Amino acid sequence: MKLYSTNNTAHQVNFKEAVFNSMPQDRGLYMPVDIPRLSDEFIHNLHHYTLPQIAFEVAKTLLGDATPGPDLQALIDDAVNFPAPVVKLEEDAYVLELFHGPSLAFKDFGARFMSRVMSYFLQPGEKQLDVLVATSGDTGGAVALGFLGVPNTRVTILYPKGKVSNIQELQLTTNGQNIRALEIDGTFDDCQALVKQAFTDAELNEALRLTSANSINIARLIPQTFYYFNAYAQLLRQGKKQVAFAVPSGNFGNIGAGLLAWKMGLPVHQFIAATNANDTVPAFLKTGVYEPKASVQTIANAMDVGNPSNWMRIADMFKEDMAKLSQLMTGYSYTDEQTREAMQQVFDAYQYVVCPHTAIAWRALKEWQQAHAGVAGVFLSTAHPCKFPDVFTPAMTQHIDVPQQVKELEAKISQAVSLPNSFDALKSYLLQ
Ligand SMILES: *Cc1c(COP(=O)(O)O)cnc(C)c1O
Repeated sequence: MKLYSTNNTAHQVNFKEAVFNSMPQDRGLYMPVDIPRLSDEFIHNLHHYTLPQIAFEVAKTLLGDATPGPDLQALIDDAVNFPAPVVKLEEDAYVLELFHGPSLAFKDFGARFMSRVMSYFLQPGEKQLDVLVATSGDTGGAVALGFLGVPNTRVTILYPKGKVSNIQELQLTTNGQNIRALEIDGTFDDCQALVKQAFTDAELNEALRLTSANSINIARLIPQTFYYFNAYAQLLRQGKKQVAFAVPSGNFGNIGAGLLAWKMGLPVHQFIAATNANDTVPAFLKTGVYEPKASVQTIANAMDVGNPSNWMRIADMFKEDMAKLSQLMTGYSYTDEQTREAMQQVFDAYQYVVCPHTAIAWRALKEWQQAHAGVAGVFLSTAHPCKFPDVFTPAMTQHIDVPQQVKELEAKISQAVSLPNSFDALKSYLLQ
């Protein structure tokens, strides 16, 4: 597999380099030079395969010679070890539950696969890999639990003091082993600035083999294609062939992976980009003008992104045919009030509790379906509702089935180290 930078197609690297670099020097993003199509036979027979079987076939087709078959098989079996069920709520309305992984969010697919790919490419005797990541909540948990116990890696997570939910904090701070959590006396932006500075500090880069684990890494994007194929397989079993996916979107990695799956031959009828008030992409799909903005804070805070980092990838996939993109993808954006309304409507209609991000996708699907009857709609549930306890009515809270792993978390003790918002403090911590 060869990848180029979206800013310079002549700049090409292999998969291993793309994974360890994360981002090309020219600040583009890595994209496969070839996006191969799966065979029609495989697509028509998807319903005969399991999620790990589908994941293997998709990954093998895309990665080519980057990993030998048996190694890839072992890697997939280890990374994709939890289900992604499609649950029918009513005729033509299905929810794709992506929250059955260790951190209870869809980011587990990306983080778990990436951690195993990195570990696979580390040669015996190579210097330990130091993963440095800033989080506003969900990313940190997925990265921590993705890398937990992975040999020859160490993860340091910076999170803003008092600004992540209780469960998110426990997921970050109670792991021990090769995972360290730093509670920074500052905001998420401060955490991000500290991480950025670390990557440019000569002394730190001399002493440590630093790498980032953020959502622009190609090894996080690839595994997110798996569950689109697998969802389509589940709909085939229900006799549905025309499918629309509604995706709660922030940095547009999730829906970007869906579009990549489409490029590989998955016959998706429509992609619906669902956002909160951060409506840069829905506005673009309406006006044709792409205008990044400063982000605004909402109750669906994992989607508070004004300049989606994966947009470059989507634009690159459709650079020869932007008209096709506007046909394939529509966008809707909602206020916090509309999001709360949607959470209530979902609860009333199906006795089903959705997190605010998921509620936005449901609402967008319903709005789109008003003009497109007869297409099976799947909205992606990106996180378990128990991760966002502050936004529910008491009746909803009572109805949430808290998973066993969360109950166990509550008995564990935080091992976070508190640091001031200071680069010198971070640097001496990392060097000690
Ligand atoms: C990260 C996240 C999103 C946004 O996904 P993108 O790939 O950045 O578009 C949506 N919902 C939840 C719960 C998330 O954690």
